[in-house]
Amino acid sequence: MSSWLVPASLYIHIPFCQAKCHYCSFNSYPAQESLHAPYLKAVKKELVLQKNKLSQSTQLRTIFFGGGTPAVIGVDGVIELLSSVLDCFRIAENCEISIETNPELLEIKDYQKLVQSGINRLSIGIQSFIDTELALLGRIHSASKAEKAYEMARMAGFDNINLDLMYGIPGQTPGSWVRSITVATKLNPEHLSLYQLSIEEGTEFENRWKNKLISLPSEEEISSMDRLTKELCPPPYEQYEISNYARGERRCKHNITYWKNHAYLGVGAGAVSYIDGVRMKNIEVPRAYCEHLKEPSLPVANSERLERYESFKETVIMGLRLREGVELGSLKARYNLTITEVYTTVLDKLLAGDMLRVTDTHLQLTERGWSVSNLVMADLV
Ligand code: SF4
Repeated sequence: MSSWLVPASLYIHIPFCQAKCHYCSFNSYPAQESLHAPYLKAVKKELVLQKNKLSQSTQLRTIFFGGGTPAVIGVDGVIELLSSVLDCFRIAENCEISIETNPELLEIKDYQKLVQSGINRLSIGIQSFIDTELALLGRIHSASKAEKAYEMARMAGFDNINLDLMYGIPGQTPGSWVRSITVATKLNPEHLSLYQLSIEEGTEFENRWKNKLISLPSEEEISSMDRLTKELCPPPYEQYEISNYARGERRCKHNITYWKNHAYLGVGAGAVSYIDGVRMKNIEVPRAYCEHLKEPSLPVANSERLERYESFKETVIMGLRLREGVELGSLKARYNLTITEVYTTVLDKLLAGDMLRVTDTHLQLTERGWSVSNLVMADLV
């Protein structure tokens, strides 16, 4: 079966955190310790229900524990979940098994346990190496704690580490961004995720922004940070996606599933699955999710089947985030449509404007298109 129909990637959502960051709009909740054990039980039940529903041929090539901060439920809880996954699904050799964590949470013995369990990729949410920026973001760690966490993870045996950093933080300057990136690259992680902060609805930052208590860096400063990022992440780092850099072959296979718009299974409160062309979202509130799973039925809150043209466009837009772009042969095989059939005048405009190029095999953003990718994507919606 094709990888865009049958999931080879599993995402497990653990929606608990030590504290709520001021910019965070994810489905995550501070504390709620009393829910941790019932939640663990519910996710295990969902895994079994999903296994029974999916094709026997399902074989996982990537597993991702995200959140929230998954290990807030305890490293042993995460390992228990991984063991349930291994009981339910066939796992490919060299399966990428990732977990997100935060610098404040784990000790070296915890990292060691995670490595021993088979988790082979760690993503640390650092966001900044400047203490005042961390405090403003509502992060509970310090820059020195972040460096220590990285060193502990290395000592414990993680040889595939991603660091998340953020630019566009209120009060951040191109100079302070340079300092954060410089510390990060000196640590020499295999992967860097560098996202621009946006003010999201319902967050503490939205409230402060509306009340003019914070202001964001100017457009010129953001452009300057963008430019500096490229200069400060030279080879062997490769910018293989708009916001992601990897050394060598250490691209995030799990996220590539999303960018290629292939099928994936999401388990846990609010997790999204995309299987056989249908997108399904689970019940979002953890308590309601746990309640639902007291009965043996999948906790799906809503689902939609994307129409062929809509799905085609989504695949193009997601795929253009990758440096290699979208493979034209796969598009044709998947949708029985070509880019010229779906995009007529807009494609000509973007090609003539040197925003897109068509190679023998791919549709790609040009260097020019890459720098204004938001505008190009808006044209392709
Ligand atoms: S640690 Fe991550 S998921 Fe948790 S509140 Fe902060 S940004 Fe959100």
